[in-house]
Amino acid sequence: MMRFDILTLFPALVESILSESIIGRAQKNGILQVRAHNIRDYSHNKHRRVDDTPYGGGRGMLMAAPPVWNCWQAVLADVTPEEQVRTIYLSPRGKTFTQEDAGRLAAYDRLILLCGHYEGIDQRAIDAVADEEISIGDYVLTGGELPACILADSVGRLIDGVLPEAECHEKESFEKDLLEYPQYTRPEVFRGEQVPQVLLSGHHENIDKWRLEQAEEVTRQRRPDLYEKYLKKYK
Ligand code: SAM
Repeated sequence: MMRFDILTLFPALVESILSESIIGRAQKNGILQVRAHNIRDYSHNKHRRVDDTPYGGGRGMLMAAPPVWNCWQAVLADVTPEEQVRTIYLSPRGKTFTQEDAGRLAAYDRLILLCGHYEGIDQRAIDAVADEEISIGDYVLTGGELPACILADSVGRLIDGVLPEAECHEKESFEKDLLEYPQYTRPEVFRGEQVPQVLLSGHHENIDKWRLEQAEEVTRQRRPDLYEKYLKKYK
């Protein structure tokens, strides 16, 4: 079973998102486990404070190193020696997350996801606990909780048994550096638009060929960078 431990100041936020839908069902079925840990519970400060002003001045507050370190240590305490574990700090300064990263991280038994808040976290805590930093895109959010949920969702759905068939993700956008072909379901005609005839033909070879052509075309138009990669690797 793969397990995500999410270190956060807002455990209810990540729990509410990851307890729904496909990831929620995978948890109920014992395929995945998600545990949110409140960093505030590890503050030894009498007011349970977790933030402070930055040395050197400047705007905002920073999450202090001790509660983050204590929380991480508590999570590590129940990792067994056989388990492969990786700690990730969600940060706009990190490497931009891709489908390839999702596949790479799905090989671990345990992922510990550290969420920052305010202006971020004391660098010494990051250096002490994080194996890598991941950003979900070139924009700044108020906290690492949504990025952690995005990472857990995209990694979680690659775990065997989470999706009904392995094919579900084998034929999706970014597999083989292509975006997905257009898809259709009933009714056959919608506002005068007919479903492409080939999809009604029952001829699987022609359908696969049409889908590949469509995927190539949509990738060429929308993501020339990805299309270049695809041409180099597969053509
Ligand atoms: N002062 C930081 C900076 O300029 O890089 C931004 C801090 S942000 C307001 C607070 C927290 O949100 C970060 O510590 C990080 O955990 C999370 N966060 C914000 N944007 C993110 C992104 N694009 N990817 C991943 N995490 C992000």
